[in-house]
Amino acid sequence: MLLLSRSKGLPPNDYANVQHILHGREFRAEELPLSEKVIKDCVKKGYVAVRSGIVPLNESVLDLLTDRKKWLCARCGNRDQETFATCTCGRCRKNCIYCRHCLTMGIVRSCTKLVTWCGPEPALHHRFIHQNGPLCVWDGTLSDEQSAAAKALNQALECGKSFLVWAVTGSGKTEMIYPAIERQLKNGRRVVLATPRTDVVRELLPRMRAAFPDVPISGLYAGSEESNADAPLVVSTAHQLIRYSNCFDCIFIDEVDAFPYHFDRMLEFAIRKAARPGAPIAYLSATPPADLKNDYLSGKLCGVMLARRYHGHPLPEPQFRWIGNWLKLIRKGQLPSLLCEWLRAKMGQKRQMFVFVSSVTLSRDLTELLQRAGFSGTAGVHAEDPHRHAKVSDFRKGKINILVTTTILERGVTVPGVEVCVVGADDPVFDDRALVQISGRVGRSAEFPSGDIIFFHNGKTMAMVRARKQIEQMNQNGGFR
Ligand SMILES: [Zn+2]
Ligand SMILES: [Zn+2]
Repeated sequence: MLLLSRSKGLPPNDYANVQHILHGREFRAEELPLSEKVIKDCVKKGYVAVRSGIVPLNESVLDLLTDRKKWLCARCGNRDQETFATCTCGRCRKNCIYCRHCLTMGIVRSCTKLVTWCGPEPALHHRFIHQNGPLCVWDGTLSDEQSAAAKALNQALECGKSFLVWAVTGSGKTEMIYPAIERQLKNGRRVVLATPRTDVVRELLPRMRAAFPDVPISGLYAGSEESNADAPLVVSTAHQLIRYSNCFDCIFIDEVDAFPYHFDRMLEFAIRKAARPGAPIAYLSATPPADLKNDYLSGKLCGVMLARRYHGHPLPEPQFRWIGNWLKLIRKGQLPSLLCEWLRAKMGQKRQMFVFVSSVTLSRDLTELLQRAGFSGTAGVHAEDPHRHAKVSDFRKGKINILVTTTILERGVTVPGVEVCVVGADDPVFDDRALVQISGRVGRSAEFPSGDIIFFHNGKTMAMVRARKQIEQMNQNGGFR
């Protein structure tokens, strides 16, 4: 009897409920709506695995000899000893070690139990297998180059191979991955589109929902309401992926080179944990990091390179304009005159502008100066700004003319017709990748395929020169000169 029901999936309802809650995810025991008894019962049956949140990590013989204790956070993969601390634990009444690295997602202590599903697979995600019609209703058309890239990506993922889409900013990467996402969903696979930034998730979600109206899609970022935990398609910041375990059959990583993914081992760990064994990864980037670039160029990683934007126009190339000691000027409450001239000219042409700056303080100061100088409709925005989403949305609606921003808007934000300048492009905050991305905000729509990108500076830097060279190179590859 038991055998029979197992072959169909699971014995009665209790387990199905547990499976529904746990499958593909990882929880701290205390956040589960399940009693200890039910969990214990499931562990006995082999359906549920429970492990310690903090485990000892002994890396070298020396550590063992000196008995110096080292720790690993099993949820986020943190092994940086500086970010562990001790507390008198309110729950177990002992001295517990806890991880500060993933604290914002709920504390993981020595006495925390991490709970995952390891029983039979649910049939849940095969709902699209027998669907004949299309899942994707996006009715735009891909250029020949985009179609070829989309096809190659689709084929690679079908064969379980990872793939790099190395495409210039504004090449229409998102639309290119629609066919592959559709194919994966129709094969009954669970798909995640991971991106480093909250803003990008918020920009992608409505586009995905419009393109795949029948597919439940869950959007995850810091502060998002978790709506649909078992949606077959998830759009998530890489950080939020640590809530998943052994879940996704196919992973798309947008802007793979963007901070912080590339710098943070935790996020690599999170992606490995969230993926099912052997799940292929599609990397999307305009400026891929060196290791991926090398793997692609040496043939180790399949991929495709797109040097043209979907509308067929070249990338706007940055112009350098020297404005002297901009930092000193702004601190003294003065505006660089070349900046004013440029902004006035653009206002006259009824264009909208992004003004990039290197710090939160500068964004505040410059916004105030511009407002005082009579530039109406100027707002400033930065990562900790509580109104940042509202401001970006007002900018899109045309209610704001000039948006002074830190690098938070360097990627993923598409506003047709926007023109861009960087005030203090020589600041070390702006590396060549950031400058390429910022330049990529201009001329993205077919209606406005060109526009200014100005680097205001007090002395050219290597990063500025490299960024301009990369853009020129891409235009050359695209056959523009
Ligand atoms: Zn404790
Ligand atoms: Zn942690």
